[in-house]
Amino acid sequence: MHMKAIQFDSPFNIKIKEYKTPTIGKYSLLVKVAYCGICGTDIHIYEGKVPFVTYPIIPGHEFSGTIKAVGSKVTRFSIGEKVAINPNFSCKDYGYDHHEYCYYCKKNRPHFCINWEAIGVTMNGGFSEFIVCPNTSAFKVPKEVSLKEAALMEPIACCLHGLQQIRIRPENTVLVIGAGPIGLMMVSLIEAFYKSKIIVSEPHPSRRNLAIQFGADIAIDPNNEVLKDVIKKETNNYGVDVSIEAVGGTTTAIEAIDCLNRGGKALLFGVSMPEDTINLNLFELYSKELSLFGSFTNPHENDQALEILKNKLINVSELVSHIFPIWKLEEGLKLMKNKAKDVKKILIQIEDNPKEYSEV
Ligand SMILES: [Zn+2]
Ligand SMILES: [Zn+2]
Repeated sequence: MHMKAIQFDSPFNIKIKEYKTPTIGKYSLLVKVAYCGICGTDIHIYEGKVPFVTYPIIPGHEFSGTIKAVGSKVTRFSIGEKVAINPNFSCKDYGYDHHEYCYYCKKNRPHFCINWEAIGVTMNGGFSEFIVCPNTSAFKVPKEVSLKEAALMEPIACCLHGLQQIRIRPENTVLVIGAGPIGLMMVSLIEAFYKSKIIVSEPHPSRRNLAIQFGADIAIDPNNEVLKDVIKKETNNYGVDVSIEAVGGTTTAIEAIDCLNRGGKALLFGVSMPEDTINLNLFELYSKELSLFGSFTNPHENDQALEILKNKLINVSELVSHIFPIWKLEEGLKLMKNKAKDVKKILIQIEDNPKEYSEV
């Protein structure tokens, strides 16, 4: 059997190729991919900026689909079930027994697994008609959740992991820097769970409007106003309790730290480049008792992400702006990269590939 997939031969060089449909092992599942979201990481892979990636590669790590075949030792799943996949592999996904787990997996921190691999990053991914995954990486999609929505499980789970580190409280004022798909997801989740006061900083006017729609109280244009001054005005000169950088830039990381009040927490969530560094005022860190957090993938949050989708706690259909057929992946990458007007999350529809572009 053959299938189509999008292969990145090298940076900026995308091709649709025919592959042999992969065969399953005893403990794995063959999944027919329905939808796969485009992530900032895919843009970085397109541009050759992800150190873990070797080319050629089929990217795509935010996907949902239907099980088409089940390995002989798999008991948890059956053919026809709808699943979303956690693309990050750790010891459990290689079938190791607990005593064989690595140092981090033994500590229940599988995202730091020394055997870590990720579908769509270090191995072929979801921009493909079929994919084989270990059954331990699959999550059953509740009947209330569509496959389109289920493709958002992974990015929502990543946001949840980030939010868990900073433990926002309802009385906090939160600054979110960047209102791209992730910034908007963060705003929606904060609004749903904490109802805190949210200030968003975002240069694009259409994205500022979206941020307000998703629950931000104020949206600032950092090119027109001095962010720190607006923050001071809005917080009686104190600064924000929590800031979330959702861009992956150095200037924005500095802003996230600079806008904190005493005891403030900054989550540096956007993915920066390996060579990026910032100057940190250590005396401020000490005297203001600041905390800085990083966040890597989503070790334990996929079930909660599916619950959020099931209970419609955030308006996911509003988070998706475009659904493209597989051959428009490159266009999607460029739209996202250029932050084109009204672009939010872009999904690639793989199953029943639509002939025409659809805007939702
Ligand atoms: Zn991602
Ligand atoms: Zn491990």
